[in-house]
Amino acid sequence: MQTMEGGCHCGRVRFRVTADLDGVTICNCSICTKKGIWHLIVSPENFELLSGKGDLATYEFNTKVAKHHFCKVCGIHPFYVPRSDPDKIDVNARCLDGFDTLAIAPRRFDGHNWEAAMEKDVPWR
Ligand SMILES: [Zn+2]
Repeated sequence: MQTMEGGCHCGRVRFRVTADLDGVTICNCSICTKKGIWHLIVSPENFELLSGKGDLATYEFNTKVAKHHFCKVCGIHPFYVPRSDPDKIDVNARCLDGFDTLAIAPRRFDGHNWEAAMEKDVPWR
């Protein structure tokens, strides 16, 4: 576990998270594909929003369980509440300061077949 900071592109939204980067997962569902998010799911006690609460908007669709937060100014999705674990925070690892997508081999989740994938071993649990 390590403590890291990150944020959106314009810098209004900033957060601090304590997590293990071994848990970073990519997903092939419709929204994750378009967002390009790399998931890092953490307990709320390991996440702290440092700034930008008032700059966040929330997108919902389908079951409306997931709360897809994004910065109203720059459009980046730094973290959200995931449908798989609505009691947790799903940080976009791509928004961590200095994150290098080429330095990490993410785990894979078949969110395109969400129900079936959730019945198998979920990689971040
Ligand atoms: Zn922003």
